[in-house]
Amino acid sequence: MPRATKWVYPFSEVEQAEALAGGSWENVRALLGGKGANLADMSRLGVPVPPGFIVTTEACNAFLEGDEVFPAQMWEQELEQIEAIESVSGKKFGASDNPLLVSCRSGSKFSMPGMMDTILNIGLNDEVAAGMVADMGDSRFAYDLYRRLVQMFGTVVFDVPGEVFEAMILAHREAAGVKKDTDLSGDDWRILTEKFKGIVRSYTGTEFPSDPYEQLKLATAAVFKSWNSKRATDYRNAAGIPHDLGTAVTIQRMVFGNLGSDSGTGVAMSRNASTGAHELEGDFLLNAQGEDVVAGIRQTLPLTTLNSEMPDIYEELVEIARKLETHYRNMQDMEFTIEHDKLWILQTRDGKRTAQAEVRIAADMVEEELITKEEAVRRVQPEQLDFFFHPQLDPAVAKAHKPIAKGLDVSPGAAIGMVAFDADTTRRWADEGKDVVMVRPETKPDDIHGLLAAKGIVTARGGRTSHAAVVARQFGKPAVVGVEALQIDFDDRQMTIGDEVIREGDWISIDGSRGEVRLGKLPTVVPDLKNPYLLKILGWADGIRTLGVRANADSPQDAERAREYGAEGIGLCRTEHMFFDKNRLPIVQKMILAKYHSERNDAIDELLPLQRGDFEGLFRAMAGYPVIIRLLDPPLHEFLPSHDELVQDLADLKMRLQHFNTMSEIDEALDQVRIKQDFLRRVKALREVNPMLGTRGVRLGILVPELTQMQVRATFEAACACAKDGVDVHPEIMIPLTMHARELEVQEKLLRAEAEAVMAEQGVEIEYRFGTMIELPRAALTADEMARCAEFFSFGTNDLTQTVFGISRDDAERGFLLHYVGNRIIPENPFHTLDAAGVGKLMEIAVKLGRETRPDLEIGVCGEHGGDPKSIALCHELGLDYVSCSPFRVPIARLAAAHAALGSPSNEEEAPHG
Ligand code: PEP
Ligand code: MG
Repeated sequence: MPRATKWVYPFSEVEQAEALAGGSWENVRALLGGKGANLADMSRLGVPVPPGFIVTTEACNAFLEGDEVFPAQMWEQELEQIEAIESVSGKKFGASDNPLLVSCRSGSKFSMPGMMDTILNIGLNDEVAAGMVADMGDSRFAYDLYRRLVQMFGTVVFDVPGEVFEAMILAHREAAGVKKDTDLSGDDWRILTEKFKGIVRSYTGTEFPSDPYEQLKLATAAVFKSWNSKRATDYRNAAGIPHDLGTAVTIQRMVFGNLGSDSGTGVAMSRNASTGAHELEGDFLLNAQGEDVVAGIRQTLPLTTLNSEMPDIYEELVEIARKLETHYRNMQDMEFTIEHDKLWILQTRDGKRTAQAEVRIAADMVEEELITKEEAVRRVQPEQLDFFFHPQLDPAVAKAHKPIAKGLDVSPGAAIGMVAFDADTTRRWADEGKDVVMVRPETKPDDIHGLLAAKGIVTARGGRTSHAAVVARQFGKPAVVGVEALQIDFDDRQMTIGDEVIREGDWISIDGSRGEVRLGKLPTVVPDLKNPYLLKILGWADGIRTLGVRANADSPQDAERAREYGAEGIGLCRTEHMFFDKNRLPIVQKMILAKYHSERNDAIDELLPLQRGDFEGLFRAMAGYPVIIRLLDPPLHEFLPSHDELVQDLADLKMRLQHFNTMSEIDEALDQVRIKQDFLRRVKALREVNPMLGTRGVRLGILVPELTQMQVRATFEAACACAKDGVDVHPEIMIPLTMHARELEVQEKLLRAEAEAVMAEQGVEIEYRFGTMIELPRAALTADEMARCAEFFSFGTNDLTQTVFGISRDDAERGFLLHYVGNRIIPENPFHTLDAAGVGKLMEIAVKLGRETRPDLEIGVCGEHGGDPKSIALCHELGLDYVSCSPFRVPIARLAAAHAALGSPSNEEEAPHG
């Protein structure tokens, strides 16, 4: 194929470039570079961009391949376009009267910020500068531009180190006795320009080219060559950008905002970037250059001032913003310059915005018929929704206060409170109306009353699936766990983080969305939960997704909240959480400590009505939806005090016995010793080296069948009571940690008998299902056998990840796993995002085998991954029926499930010009 002979495109010929590119905007960007294509695109829309042209990436590649000579005709085409700019602008390149100055910028298909070169103010020499001075009556402007040209030329074209020029400016400033560049006069810059030329001469042995055309030629070649600079090559390697794309060169008329009070420069957003409101927002400065606006040297003015000072320009800007938004179908962030009352747009791009603005803009743009509902849903990232569900630290204040410690960001939102070091103090202070952040080395189930009473939680140890993290997420409590620098001194009731000492009762502010802890009582902002834009986006997401979304909830309040957030049932009720209640724990302990069957059954009978009450609440809150009740899962010793604590308490009691005086004191202490000893005996008997792989889950149910019977009875008594009241109930009983189909057979027999008995007693028929968690590799690999009994599966991916990886979930986020993730030995923390290659493959096998036995097998996931967008996408791919997550993550899961259903963006929606 003959090589192209058209190397240069003026902005006005973008149509031709598009036709050549087969109508593909991606190809236009490849030919003209992103920046050039964007300017040409704006100019075709009638937006006033300074006139210019683009030398193509093809020309760059021809230059780099062919001994660094311009391809034939390229330079002539460039000259033609300079003439064209001259004729539209009425200016002349190289003339001392009304001179044309141009910029020469790099720009490849993909943005490579700062990696390649740019030269500004091309066209200046001694005569041109003198002409400008004569014309303006001021030398500062012209010589500041001129020295910048020599300086940029020196570094970019002649490879003179930039520091040499900077050092010379510094020396000159010192000699002139001024502190800032802005204090230097026109004469100073003229002298410096000469000195800069001297630097070029010394370094290269040649003169700085005074011929503007020579400058343009050298600048074009230098930009081409900068494609192969080391930093650009390294960047492409890191960003995965191909090396054969080449860079285009955009040459454009320079415009200046610092030419007097009829000039200015600024940035404008087409919508409010904080709230998303449909209004122009931005900053500008009169008589200033673009750098002055971003550098923050001068106090910028709001665009409303532009409206009052230059109403016509403001109106034009509003109209341009509308036009660009309609074209790009997104909020725009524009840079503009006003030169002698004429508005120029220098750049536009999709604007950065807050989560709140993202949601509102997406929803509004659907109403404005700019985008489809699908696109609106796709634009909002699931994690952005966190913003709406939790108070956040005021961003400005958070920026001004450095965190004193960092940990894992396990449960989002901000919590501000007084530090308390144990659950009892937390609860007591909370009851007194104080805001408390509970700080613990780690949390255990018997800290639950503190967890519930606290505004937020901090722990020194523990990972994403640690007790503190799971419970915090479940109850929407902001939490930072695994703050390794944290040490608590319980004797002195204080904690240290590095050099900071924080006493119990001092205020801290935690940010669970970032895993940060700050000192003091910082202000928060409370987002709007019933935000109408959010509700719209979520409603559209529901219409798109095919995965169901349920909640992990253990209390009626949780279930109600979950339903309010859009949950379609309960995917996991961890019934053990109901046992940890302060008033119930003694009954559970009585059951565990019982020596005789009758004693144990008495305790179980006491628990029955309490469980029944909870279940009733769940069924009512979730009327019409399934409620999965999981039978008791954790090892029994978790309900008893810890072994070491008991040994210590006993030693203390025995010591104190020697100092009592009255008989009643001694009797009481002896009683305590007996009780603690009973506890200790039982704790020792139940003690296992690896309790997470020990007597828990279904194993417990098999060893203590009365427990299973009680929980089933409570479930069905509750269901029957609700049904009698006309509530539509759908109980599903789930057996945890099964590894063998026989376990299910044994439990099923027991369970169905009890269920039948209750229904017969109550005279009510309830439709229910019996199923199992799949959280051990053997269960997954024998899913066909498991599905003979089980009518549904729910992947317990916390335990499944633990057992597939052989990594203890309780120790996961400290030590080696962090090192592994930090050093990319494994790509992601598997307790956070489902491991597709390992755990995912096992799930795929289980889905396939399970449905071979039972085609209508309902399958979901209820591990922590159920609320993680990437894991949700995998669950969608694996053909699961639903995901289940904590109530606060339900909206995120709804959106993530819609994203999964939408798949990767179609070509049509790949932001054709964005
Ligand atoms: C799981 O293992 O994924 C699960 C949901 O159960 P738990 O976290 O209660 O062990
Ligand atoms: Mg589990």
